[in-house]
Formats: sequence, structure tokens, C-alpha cells
Amino acid sequence: MSDTECRYCRHCNVQDTEIGQCRRYPPENFEDDEGVSIEWPLVKLEMWCGEFSRKVN
Ligand code: SF4
Repeated sequence: MSDTECRYCRHCNVQDTEIGQCRRYPPENFEDDEGVSIEWPLVKLEMWCGEFSRKVN
């Protein structure tokens, strides 16, 4: 396990034990057969990206 993971990023809004919402940028529109929804991108907590910024206590 790395300490550079979404779970430790200040932009991550943890949803459950595996998934978080990345709130680094505004929510996005997604369109499917049921219509349009507005959502933040979902990330697995063990992922990371170049926008990682460590949470501070
Ligand atoms: S590491 Fe990147 S993808 Fe993960 S929560 Fe932070 S900004 Fe979002």
C-alpha cells in the first residue's frame, strides 16, 4: 500500500470502504439511456493522480 492514494488526498470525499468522489474539479455531466446526471468522478481509494494533495489534520 502506498501513502500516495486517493484515500489520503484532500480532494477525496470517501463514500465507503472502497470508493470516493474526486472533488478536485467541479462535477461533470454524464448522459446515459436514463438521461443526464451531474456527478463527481468516482475513484477507487487505492488510486492516485498527479493532482494528489495530502490531507492535513
Ligand atoms: S489523487 Fe487525484 S484522483 Fe485521487 S482524489 Fe486526489 S485529485 Fe482526485
